[in-house]
Amino acid sequence: MSTIADNLSTLTARISAAAKAAGRAPSDIRLLAVSKTKPAAAVREAFAAGVRDVGENYLQEALNKQGELTDLPLTWHFIGPIQSNKTRAIAEHFDWVHSVDRLKIAQRLSEQRPEGLTPLSICLQVNVSGETSKSGCTPEELPALASAIAALPRLRLRGLMAIPEPTDDRAAQEAAFARVRELQDSLGLSLDTLSMGMSHDLEAAIAQGATWVRIGTALFGARDYGQP
Ligand SMILES: *Cc1c(COP(=O)(O)O)cnc(C)c1O
Repeated sequence: MSTIADNLSTLTARISAAAKAAGRAPSDIRLLAVSKTKPAAAVREAFAAGVRDVGENYLQEALNKQGELTDLPLTWHFIGPIQSNKTRAIAEHFDWVHSVDRLKIAQRLSEQRPEGLTPLSICLQVNVSGETSKSGCTPEELPALASAIAALPRLRLRGLMAIPEPTDDRAAQEAAFARVRELQDSLGLSLDTLSMGMSHDLEAAIAQGATWVRIGTALFGARDYGQP
């Protein structure tokens, strides 16, 4: 087995064990393979091992990889910070966006989503770690933002996404993810997605209801930002 296939089977076992510990069906948790900084060849290897959903943070890097992988039936997710001048390409080249945190960006994505494609699936990113994180709307902004986005015609609001402050304390991890779930429940919208949990905290996220876990390092290995 390749390293990536090997990592995927370890990861699948972690996800299953966490699901069972939480009394959930493992099939309710989906794996988003986060391939930022990794070459198209690594994504191809992950596809061969069974990965179908890929998450990217940087638009140009993602478009380059998509161009090299047009033969694979992958679903592409945008998970990075979004500048206004990038919304058109995101609306045209992705199926999901997990990192929407402003109405202006959502409006542009809705206007620019091509008619021939299904509505773009959206997760609203919420900041549950206060000042330590710059991305994500505040819990206070969330209700109005969620209703406004749910009303946009070419988007489908699926749920919330969060990246809590990293910690090794399992109780603190769970408390942050529980807060995201409670915020989602308090919206009273019919939402089916909680995008939360990464390589180091997926067990806590699954215990608190994650439906997508976004995994980079545990699948593809450590990232080297020094490489071009
Ligand atoms: C990089 C990244 C991930 C994956 O993180 P790992 O710790 O490598 O699993 C998940 N979500 C987002 C938004 C990221 O930027």
